[in-house]
Amino acid sequence: MHKVEKVVIFGGTHGNEVTGVEVLKLLEKRNYFGKNVELLTYFSNRKAFELKKRYVDKDLNRSFTKEVIKNGGFLHEERLAKEIYDKFHGENNLVIDIHTTTSNMGKSIVLTKKNEFNLKLISFLQDLHKDLKVFYWQESEDLAFLNTISPLGFAIEMGPVGNNVLDCKIIEDTLVLVEDILDFAEKYNKNILPSLNEEIILYEGVDYLYYPKDEKGERFGYIHDEFQNMNFKPLNKGDRIFKTHIDTNLEYKGENGLIPLFINEVAYYEKNIACCLAKKVIERI
Ligand SMILES: [Zn+2]
Repeated sequence: MHKVEKVVIFGGTHGNEVTGVEVLKLLEKRNYFGKNVELLTYFSNRKAFELKKRYVDKDLNRSFTKEVIKNGGFLHEERLAKEIYDKFHGENNLVIDIHTTTSNMGKSIVLTKKNEFNLKLISFLQDLHKDLKVFYWQESEDLAFLNTISPLGFAIEMGPVGNNVLDCKIIEDTLVLVEDILDFAEKYNKNILPSLNEEIILYEGVDYLYYPKDEKGERFGYIHDEFQNMNFKPLNKGDRIFKTHIDTNLEYKGENGLIPLFINEVAYYEKNIACCLAKKVIERI
């Protein structure tokens, strides 16, 4: 592996997730630039931010398809994706994309590329942040995340925080995480990394759980209060997961032991997704 050439921190990829935008300002004001690693910041979707919306035409964080990065597209986010790819793609660029979630996910990472560099970086961060969890969703053409522009890096997901809400604790926790990532890049380049734990727990995405629908195909209920905020707690058959509009409880009928993540993320309503389902796996560096 070569050295990290640039660290690129993205904020505002989803226009209504304002934490990242604040973190970019803090990095700029506190002048982290000009150290041993070249640091760049990039405000991904200003137009969506001005509209206080997740996106203008389509989700930017699903727009980095092969077709779009090659030929661009007509939609606002397709143009942005092409622009971002052309400016920042590179084998040795460390790309960190800051997101927030309305779900009670705590401090978490969404990883799409399991390579030695990323696993070492995660191990380094988990040593400093014992509460940091990693959701691994293998890269695929339909996910097409911003992070796919480089093999190095991942998305940060912090929550719960409402869309467009400035939450001091969430902003500061994110900033600290970014600072620790910069520290890692510097130590990695100088070859002075501390000894790292070689085993990492990943929550590997395997499926989604969908909201119940009525005969018209409309959502027919919501997350049960017993299930709300229960991210990372294994599901078992019979757990009450939904309450319907006629006040009945719906129980979980799937495989025992699957782990729910992103429960009640508001951005998933449009896809009728109630949560992601994952399996706990141990990865060795
Ligand atoms: Zn987001």
